[in-house]
Amino acid sequence: MTLTPTSPTLSRDRIFAGGEWLSPASSAELVVESPVDHSEVGRAPDGTAEDVDIAVRAAREAFDHGPWPRMTAAERADWLDRLADEMERRGGTTSEIITAEIGQPVRLSRPWAGVRPITHLRYYANVARRPDFEEEERPNVYGTGNSIIRHEPLGVAALIVPWNHPQASLTLKLAPALAAGCTVVIKPAPESPLDVYQFAEASLAIGMPPGVINIVPGGRDTGQALVAHPGTDKIGFTGSSEAGRHIASVAGGRLVPVTLELGGKSAAVILESADLDAAFTSLRTAAFDNTGQTCALMSRILAPRALYPEIHERLVALAGDLVVGDPTDEATELGPLVSRRIHDRVSGMVERARAAGATVVTGGQVLPPEGYFYAPTIVTDAAVDSEIAQDEVFGPVVTLLPYDTVDEAVRIANDSHYGLAGAVYGAPDEVLGVARRIRTGSIGLNGYRPDLNTPYGGYKDSGLGREFAPEAVRNFQETKSIWR
Ligand code: NAD
Repeated sequence: MTLTPTSPTLSRDRIFAGGEWLSPASSAELVVESPVDHSEVGRAPDGTAEDVDIAVRAAREAFDHGPWPRMTAAERADWLDRLADEMERRGGTTSEIITAEIGQPVRLSRPWAGVRPITHLRYYANVARRPDFEEEERPNVYGTGNSIIRHEPLGVAALIVPWNHPQASLTLKLAPALAAGCTVVIKPAPESPLDVYQFAEASLAIGMPPGVINIVPGGRDTGQALVAHPGTDKIGFTGSSEAGRHIASVAGGRLVPVTLELGGKSAAVILESADLDAAFTSLRTAAFDNTGQTCALMSRILAPRALYPEIHERLVALAGDLVVGDPTDEATELGPLVSRRIHDRVSGMVERARAAGATVVTGGQVLPPEGYFYAPTIVTDAAVDSEIAQDEVFGPVVTLLPYDTVDEAVRIANDSHYGLAGAVYGAPDEVLGVARRIRTGSIGLNGYRPDLNTPYGGYKDSGLGREFAPEAVRNFQETKSIWR
């Protein structure tokens, strides 16, 4: 296995606030460990409450007195396009940094870090150019004439993101926030604090007004300081349901709006009418992408009893066929898990499933040579209400569950405290009816292909509010009615 080279140039020792590189208040550091070989990838400041305060003040100043919220939406759209152009130039480097930080295979980090963030910026630039973006008129109902509805920038937005798709989850917040006229403080995850600096450099390179984008890396304490800071007006969060619940309670106490994109335990329902070749081509990525570390993966597969033996066989064959290895290799489909924390969590859940009577048909073990590699794993004979069938594993572990009737399949799919995603595989005239009955924020027919132009988010413990689509801009706007 060729290992990702350690590059000391990835290290950073500054926070970014008010358009300047500032020394952090303390010498505390985040050390990014390569999940491939445990070598040091780089370091970044572990931001303190004092650093957060400096960044929020810079964002506050830029919002209260700077040009950003005062320029027209079309002018901001031009800035977003310039930022997209600059990030596009950096796309190759950004995806390399992400592969080093989190071990994401290059075949994923190139599109997810090198292309999608740029697509997001350009998409919201175009949304900002719509004539009704900031102001629209509606006819009055109580009286005559029209009233004006204004959508004004909300203020300073705190953007807290996880490590699993760091650039994509960030730009799904950053692009609509900037388009709306907000200024932002970004807190990346401690596992991936380095790639985000590309935005700082890009914003300097194009001469964006200072204080519009501010960055403080750090862990949970840094995030908590940001969420609790009285200078923030909006929290946009992607991460675990546990953290989301805590953040929502703090935001509730402060009465600031919060958008939460949280975990999932999505079900793929395979109907008897399914084309299994096509279904398994889809499930190769829909169940295992990003080494199982994606919120919307089909981590439960529901098989009709009549097809159970064949689906079982195909699933085991798929798990054995996935190419696990060096994330810098073009052929690699699954890299290592991101960290010891996630690795221990995944192996602990599989071991507890085994102890509870489930069968680990394939996988269920750590892979050599070193790092956090874990074999693609299929679990059967698990009770529907067991931990492995209910909780998010966030690793390459799929639980196969049989069902007797379509009603039972729908019931099992909905028997979850999550409600993020799902997929139904079957004849075209059957799948839509089943999809309509499943209570999730999104669902795919014969595949799972999220699209930026449609809202994305979760029911139940999977979140609050929606991202994607023009609607996401409303997360960063206040609405004002002007009556006349
Ligand atoms: P996590 O919740 O531990 O951390 C996510 C981010 O939140 C990190 O930046 C972390 O430092 C910060 N954080 C943690 N606790 C915090 C707190 N109390 N206050 C403020 N900030 C806090 O999540 P993780 O385990 O690192 O990431 C994986 C999780 O993210 C999974 O549950 C996954 O499903 C979820 N996720 C959801 C989506 C979605 O769109 N629904 C997308 C990607 C990941």
